Formats: sequence, C-alpha cells, structure tokens
Amino acid sequence: MKKLGFGFMRLPILKEGDFTSIDMAQVCEMTDIFMSNGFCYFDTAYPYHGEKSEEAIREALVKRYPRDSFLLADKMPTIRVTGPQDYPVLFETQLQRCGVDYFDYYLFHNIWKKSYADTEKFGGFDFIAQKMKEGRIKHFGFSFHDEPELLDKVLTAHPEVEFVQLQLNYLDWKSPSVRSEECYNVARRHGKEIIVMEPNKGGSLIALPKEAEKLIKDYAPDSSPASWAMRFCASLEGVKLVLSGMSNISQLKDNISFMSDPVPLNAEEKKIIEGVRDIIEKNSAIGCTKCRYCTEDCPMDIPIPEYFSAFNTYRLTHNMGNAGMYYRRYANGRALASQCLKCGKCEAHCPQHLEIRRLLGECAELFESK
Ligand code: SF4
Ligand code: SF4
Repeated sequence: MKKLGFGFMRLPILKEGDFTSIDMAQVCEMTDIFMSNGFCYFDTAYPYHGEKSEEAIREALVKRYPRDSFLLADKMPTIRVTGPQDYPVLFETQLQRCGVDYFDYYLFHNIWKKSYADTEKFGGFDFIAQKMKEGRIKHFGFSFHDEPELLDKVLTAHPEVEFVQLQLNYLDWKSPSVRSEECYNVARRHGKEIIVMEPNKGGSLIALPKEAEKLIKDYAPDSSPASWAMRFCASLEGVKLVLSGMSNISQLKDNISFMSDPVPLNAEEKKIIEGVRDIIEKNSAIGCTKCRYCTEDCPMDIPIPEYFSAFNTYRLTHNMGNAGMYYRRYANGRALASQCLKCGKCEAHCPQHLEIRRLLGECAELFESK
C-alpha cells in the first residue's frame, strides 16, 4: 500500500466558519485524483466536520467506487460513550453514515487517561473483538495523544491491538509536552505498525516563518515545506502510512508528487529541519492543530482554534491589520475570547495539552484591548 492516507477532517468548505458546508464537488474531484494515482486509504471520524465527514466519504467514495478498491478507517468516538449500551448504537450509526457494512480499519478515537479507563470499564475491547469476529472490523487500533507511559500500559494490557495512530512530526518529535519520539519508540517496542497523524502539525509546518522557509528553499528551491514534513514521517521504520487532511486540489497534488515514492530525508536535510524547528520554536506560535476536540463541550461555543489561528498570524507576521481582521471575522456573532468562563472543559480534550484558558486570555489582550 502507498504511504499516503486521505484524512477527511479538513475538507474544503463553501461557507467560511461553517464546517458542515463541505464543497462536495471539489471533494469528489480530489477523491478521483487520489484514487487514480494508486492511493486507496481514507480516514474519517464521527465528529469531523460537525458530523458530516462520514457522509462526505459515502458520497465521494463509497457510492462511486467498488468496496474492494479502497480501505476505509473510522473511529469509535470515545468522548460520546457513557456506557456499554452506546457502542453498538454509535457503531451502527457510523456504518450507516458511511454506507458500508464493514470497516477495514477501526480505532478507538483518542485514547487518553480518562477514555482508557472508561473503555476498560464499559467493555470496549470486548465489543471490538465481537465485531472483528463478525467480520465488520478487519483491523483494530487506537489513536493516541497522551504520554508514552500510558501507551505502554495499554499495549501491554491489549496485545490484540494491531496498530496505533500517533501524532508524529518533526516539530513534536522532541517536544516535552507531546513526546512523539518516546511514543514512537514504545509502539515499536511492542511491534506495532504506526499510522501517522498531524504530520505537518495542522498546517504549521506548511506555512512556515519566512526565515525558516528560506532554509528549505535555499537547499531545494522546488520542494514544498509540506514535502519535508511528510518525508520525515514516511521514512521512519514501522510507519505504515501518513495521513494528511488535505483542503484543496493543489495540496493533494503536491502530496501525491512526493508520496508516490517518498525519499527519506538525508543527513543534510535532517540538519536543516532542526534549524527550521528552532526558528518555529523561537516564534513560539500556539501549537494548535485545529482538531476541534475542544469546541465540543464549550458552554460558550467559543471558536477556539480560529482565535488561535488569528493569534498565530500576528505572531508570525507582526501584522495586526490582517490578524485583527481575522479575529473580528471569526468573532462575528460568537463569544469573544474574553467571554471564556474558565471552566476548563476544553483543556481536558486538547491532545496538544494547550493551556487554552491562558491562551484565550492572551488573545483577548491582543485583540480586544486595542
Ligand atoms: S474554559 Fe472557556 S473556552 Fe474552555 S470550555 Fe470553558 S468557556 Fe469554553
Ligand atoms: S486547542 Fe487543542 S483541542 Fe482545540 S483545536 Fe487546538 S489542538 Fe485541537
């Protein structure tokens, strides 16, 4: 199998701010280009795009291609499970939304301390074993953003897990909060295959600070920053594939151009990305990947990732004109950053372990005090 997976989590949309308004014409075209280039792995999840991603897969892929021509991955939304009775209901809903009668790859979505404890308590692993027996799940794993110690514990308790989906990218590789390299090593020690998510950290490794982009362009003028991020992941031993949440045709074509046969980074290139990492860290933008897990429970419905994106624009460009305009646009009709209740519900869900309350305070100070 080719090492690029199409994540249906950042699809093109028709109306700014409305993530359910998926541009299906473009998504169908992207699916066709992807498939015609010999790629076949698609990834979706219950909450993506305001719960419309699974239906988008059905329309763009399932209805238009023979079932045995593609591989489909979906995830049990652990955040929605309140007891054992929820597993069959959610699973059947997902099959229905996707228009399939089995999943090739099925994962527990975001195993972390609490969701792992719940999954054990509610018999989640037994449910999966049953569905595998019935042939409705072909391969089983989980996505993970927590600490390597917990990963070790889960994999030790459940040797039946076939693969893990990890957040790996060259920015998080040595990060003391994400600890990508350590998680990778744990998974490999257990002999698991790895599916990579967030290879470009939600776009942060695509839109680089100018100084960092120059390092890459000076060495290879025709290569994109995205290609370096993807090749970094694809060249790690045990990586089965790298997911990319592509948002338009040009990103897709760029990915296809180097992921058909990804060339590992050479020693000189590895040194260059260390320089890139140093520059990004110096600019210390907020490491938000726009996954939107935080917004699910927010009682104020604050558009957290959008505010962080406006904040990052300012930090990277030092241009208040554009950043302020983005902030005002996102805030139109929504609660402001300063209206955060500081309840902390969002932080419990953030895979990047961001101090969302404090950062929203910084956004409020930057954008609302002028
Ligand atoms: S702390 Fe603020 S942003 Fe987070 S869930 Fe509560 S109100 Fe929403
Ligand atoms: S703040 Fe955290 S949970 Fe929210 S979108 Fe960003 S990375 Fe995801």
